[in-house]
Amino acid sequence: MTKSNPTLIVIEDDPSIRGFLRTSLTAQHFQVFEAKTGKQGIIEASVRKPDLVILDLGLPDMEGVEVIKAIRSWSALPIIILSARSHEQQKIEALDAGADDYLSKPFSFGELLARIRVGLRHALRSGEALATEVFQTGPLKVDLHHRIVYVNDAEVHLTPIQYRLLCVMIKHAGKVLTQQHILKEVWGPSYQENAHYLRIYMSQLRQKLEHDPSQPKFLLTESGVGYRLKV
Ligand code: CA
Repeated sequence: MTKSNPTLIVIEDDPSIRGFLRTSLTAQHFQVFEAKTGKQGIIEASVRKPDLVILDLGLPDMEGVEVIKAIRSWSALPIIILSARSHEQQKIEALDAGADDYLSKPFSFGELLARIRVGLRHALRSGEALATEVFQTGPLKVDLHHRIVYVNDAEVHLTPIQYRLLCVMIKHAGKVLTQQHILKEVWGPSYQENAHYLRIYMSQLRQKLEHDPSQPKFLLTESGVGYRLKV
């Protein structure tokens, strides 16, 4: 193991999943530390200075969302949650508490690896994006300094709210954002019940930015949860 191998913490009480993740992730040259409880996980996360945390939401000693809040009180490191499919509300709370991404159990290892790569890349890039002030994904390019949006190098005109919505997605690019989160950032806290606003404006954005708005390539829907801007 060299120092450049990314360090991951796996917080999971199920020994078979934990063992599987340790073996498979180590084989992919990650350095893996494990925790069986939320408390232990918080300690590991503070001591090991990991690059990313994988967190099971169903832990024996505390709610996964409390683990997220604890870590978020001192760190912005990427957190990917693992949740049982039946716990939709738990998943949404975890994302609102600051988790970056989620996988429903049972998940494929390939999918987890892909999400880990996005998480690590995003952590690296969050500084750069601000410095360059130009965001780019696929055919979409946004000059954040001059507030100009391009698709395939052609300028696209957005209304102020459409632009604000796009900026919120860019600010959290790669992350799953809940509807509540987006509504709060774009329209303010008193609009959190107005999910239809979001549907309307997201659809308008896709009309303007996506090649085929019915099959979006970067303004993605996360079914039952919210949206993600693919990077
Ligand atoms: Ca569990």
